[in-house]
Amino acid sequence: MYLARLIYTSVPTHDFSPDDISGILETARHNNREHSITGLLYFNHRYFLQCLEGSRSNINKIYQRILNDCRHQEPLLLDYREIEVRDFPEWEMAYLPETEQTRSLYMRYSPTGEFSPYHMSGESCHQLMLSLRKVLPAV
Ligand code: FAD
Repeated sequence: MYLARLIYTSVPTHDFSPDDISGILETARHNNREHSITGLLYFNHRYFLQCLEGSRSNINKIYQRILNDCRHQEPLLLDYREIEVRDFPEWEMAYLPETEQTRSLYMRYSPTGEFSPYHMSGESCHQLMLSLRKVLPAV
């Protein structure tokens, strides 16, 4: 059973409200715990950027469900690879909204200085997520 990481981006649907996040996280954390999935969900009101870590088969299962979710659209797979170690082992699904502090990270990874994952490489998105990890509250 191989450890793998998947990173994708998507756009919330028009009727999506930031209040929906808490429901998504509740379900996500429950399911992810059962499937030994960890990761990070970042949201800036325009885009979702999410990283899922776990066994190849479980990531595949959860990602299929996420793709079918009507609360977002235009999912784009940015990176998928086998990995040696997890980046977010303590989090069933860490969540970070955009703040002034997270905005200050964009210039390093984005060609425009904006958060636009559709125009960023998978590796840039991964590196951004590693920087976002430093902003997460301690578990
Ligand atoms: P069900 O609970 O049977 O729901 C079926 C469909 O109904 C869903 O796909 C969705 O389209 C819709 N739906 C369900 N609940 C609501 C609601 N409260 N409001 C509106 N529509 C709803 N799941 C995980 O397990 N792990 C994750 O890491 C994860 N990350 C997510 C990230 C994002 C950005 C989004 C939008 C969803 C995420 N989810 C995650 C939720 C996932 O898409 C599924 O809804 C969830 O896994 C339940 O799957 P299910 O097949 O049991 O669907």
